[in-house]
Amino acid sequence: MTQVGIIGWRGMVGSVLLQRMLEENDFNGISAHFFSTSSAGGHGPVIDGIRYTLKDAHSIEALAEMDIIITCQGGEYTKAIYPALLEYGWKGYWIDAASALRMDERACIILDPVNRKNIDRAVNDGIKLFVGGNCSITLSLMGLAGLINADLIEWMSVMTYQSASGAGAKHVRELIAQSAYISQHLSPDELENPGSVLPLVNKVSELIRSDKMPIDNFGAPLMGSIIPWIDSDLGDGNSREEWKGEAETNKILGLPVGTIPVNGLCIRVGVIRCHSAAITLKLKREVSEAEFEALVTHSHPWVNYVPNNKEASVAQLTPAHISGSLQVGIGRFKKMALNNDPIYSVLTVGDQLLWGAAEPLRRMLNILLNRI
Ligand code: NAP
Repeated sequence: MTQVGIIGWRGMVGSVLLQRMLEENDFNGISAHFFSTSSAGGHGPVIDGIRYTLKDAHSIEALAEMDIIITCQGGEYTKAIYPALLEYGWKGYWIDAASALRMDERACIILDPVNRKNIDRAVNDGIKLFVGGNCSITLSLMGLAGLINADLIEWMSVMTYQSASGAGAKHVRELIAQSAYISQHLSPDELENPGSVLPLVNKVSELIRSDKMPIDNFGAPLMGSIIPWIDSDLGDGNSREEWKGEAETNKILGLPVGTIPVNGLCIRVGVIRCHSAAITLKLKREVSEAEFEALVTHSHPWVNYVPNNKEASVAQLTPAHISGSLQVGIGRFKKMALNNDPIYSVLTVGDQLLWGAAEPLRRMLNILLNRI
């Protein structure tokens, strides 16, 4: 039986990965092993009544017994362990959620509804390193797959609204703690006072800026605010998250570097789960709303076209509606009144823990299990 090691299973992505693997019976037919960087020897998850004991995620010997390793542990772990495993002579498959090795020339970025041919080619060519793409880019490409297949995109400007859970388990807890901190300091009288709302607004603004607001993980308040920078500062005006947009889009699509220019701003917002992206698209020709709908709808089963009107957008194109669903919403399609060029807006909304992280990993596991 194929030995599959899972690292990072209690983190944000790992918890959703486990949930999806259970829902899809992925544990049937594999021998699963759970690893931990912090509590080797402790209790792991219970699956089919079996309580797993955690193995040491730093033990190269234990990891080398695996045929396939799936890690959602993070980039520092990947950078420390993957080279050491190869050095040890390990020949297995490494499936990773972290960005550390995405642009490595040995790596294939996995998003099979969009690039299954590239994945199959990589497996045939003996590639053993498969990495999930950046969550925002992945969700935008899931929404835009129909336009990509029709070779209609000239360039994209992608403005993201990324949720707190995109930064990990500790961060999403912090957003909720920030919200609780504010509520704890408001009396029913202050909330229900029928007079001017300004005192309430001022008090909440003070609470948001107070040095008691829990900000250890984000470094800034997110509840009632935004954080206009995600990942490191590249020093050229771009965040690393923004740089990933163009680099990963072209790599996922198997295109030469820079074939589709992509740039924009990546913003953290006080959303619990789901990343949204307001995308300005320069297309190679005019596309009517009917053609757009047909293209996106027929590209793969996990895209939901939302007509560009207020009622449908407010009801269906929101993180609140889409959280926990494998359907990526795409809507707000309109020709922008800028000039006569075929420049359009769209909004994509998708669960970054599903298609933006866990789902491509478990699907890659199954692609490999069917091939080896
Ligand atoms: P995370 O929630 O911070 O979990 C990573 C690890 O942190 C866990 O496996 C766990 O390792 C440890 N940990 C420490 N304290 C924890 C706590 N209180 N609760 C849970 N885990 C705790 O990170 P993540 O968001 O899953 O991201 C993992 C990787 O996937 C990163 O490289 C990230 O960039 C990438 N990614 C994330 C998303 C997303 O939406 N979050 C999307 C795409 C890609 P031990 O059990 O070994 O201690």
